[in-house]
Amino acid sequence: MTKIIVAKFGGSSMADAVAMRRSANVALEHKANLVTVSATYGTTNNLIKLSKTALTSDWEACEVIVNEIIEKHHSIASDLGLTDLTELDKLLSEVKTISKGINLLRDCSAKAFDAIQSLGERMSSLLFTRALELAWEGNKTVSNFDIRKVLRTDDQFGKAQPIIKEIRSLCNEHLSKCKTGEEIYVTQGFIGQSEDGHTTTLGRGGSDYSAALIAEGLGADILQIWTDVAGIATTDPRIVPEAKLMSEITFSEAAELATFGAKILHPTTLTPALREGISVYVGSSYEPHATGTWIKGECSDAPLIRAMAIKKEQSLLTLSTPKMLHSHGFLYEIFKIFNQYKVSVDSITTSEISVSLTVEDSTLLNKKLITELETLATVKVEENLCLVSLIGNNINHTAGLAGQIFNALGDINVRMICLGASKHNFCFLVDASRAHEAVQKLHTHFIGE
Ligand code: ADP
Ligand code: ASP
Ligand code: MG
Repeated sequence: MTKIIVAKFGGSSMADAVAMRRSANVALEHKANLVTVSATYGTTNNLIKLSKTALTSDWEACEVIVNEIIEKHHSIASDLGLTDLTELDKLLSEVKTISKGINLLRDCSAKAFDAIQSLGERMSSLLFTRALELAWEGNKTVSNFDIRKVLRTDDQFGKAQPIIKEIRSLCNEHLSKCKTGEEIYVTQGFIGQSEDGHTTTLGRGGSDYSAALIAEGLGADILQIWTDVAGIATTDPRIVPEAKLMSEITFSEAAELATFGAKILHPTTLTPALREGISVYVGSSYEPHATGTWIKGECSDAPLIRAMAIKKEQSLLTLSTPKMLHSHGFLYEIFKIFNQYKVSVDSITTSEISVSLTVEDSTLLNKKLITELETLATVKVEENLCLVSLIGNNINHTAGLAGQIFNALGDINVRMICLGASKHNFCFLVDASRAHEAVQKLHTHFIGE
């Protein structure tokens, strides 16, 4: 039986008409049944900038950004020979209308913010549909599909959670034609729709996750993530140019890498793939014939250190109170508050009278959270930190590993350390100004030049 393939192309694969045509050929050659795309390169950032400008500045400043977005999309459309601009212009005028609304009211609700961000993917998918039609040369029907018909989420705007059961049944209802190969569908990553019909987003970088959710809903065999690097490397090549591409990595290792900051995959991408046993491939749309990386249940080797990652913009909160001494229920009280504010904690260590935990810097904007924590303990906040992670195997049972790590780090001061909870991960906090240097030193020691 022929395999069902979902292919996802990120923003750099949608940069301009040339990148789109190249990506269309990749989708064609790799036999995608359904393609999910990100917004064109830089457009999500531009839409966010537009919303913020609309909140604080006059319309003239907003218009500059609106015009930039219009020009970029018109220019790609023209390079692709798209003559009927009705649909695209409808979306472009939505960009203008929503930003005008934000500007007039000086208010940008989470719902409006998601609505405006969604336009990036909605526009790029229209353009990519055209690119794919050119690649198919009329051999097959290419349809632009509105993912909001199937990607049902809750209404946590900006970080919407998918409703898996509904997605599955809606995929069954709406996507059967692409399963048989009769049609190829082009659809939007990153966006969904709440049960009462509002557009939501899955969080920055969420197109990977969308593709995995649709692959799950379709019962796909393979999920291909096409990006600007030829697979997953031992660390971000922008930090360590000598980073080595890996031909394979396990699901557990890749999930740790993504959770601990490797931008190559959105942190939750692998959850649907694991649930359904979907094979995941990461490759470059610029070099589609390079080996790329397969994410697998098991690999041919299980090295102590396979890769490393950095999670930026971390803050360390230390809560101290003598009330913790020989008492119980204190952690419960703390986490009740984090739960109430929907804040996720990445790592934690405790001593007799204090608890240290890491959160994203942006969490600190929520003054109420801190005030509430202060009713339980004194709260010390340290900002501008990065969480550095080493990812591999048997990490919590290997004698001498911590010694090697601290030796390699030399004079870089280490704040909190987390070791023991996972056999795949050793992570610690360092000052942001030394995080790249820390990864470079560890990479040289464990992976080599
Ligand atoms: P896309 O727009 O295709 O989703 P992203 O920019 O989100 O692409 O992700 C690709 C980027 O992830 C790469 O350009 C690279 O800088 C970064 N990256 C971080 N960690 C890794 C890693 N371990 N291997 C490869 N790339 C990584
Ligand atoms: N366009 C969205 C972003 O830039 C989603 C994605 O590209 O994955 O965050
Ligand atoms: Mg991405």
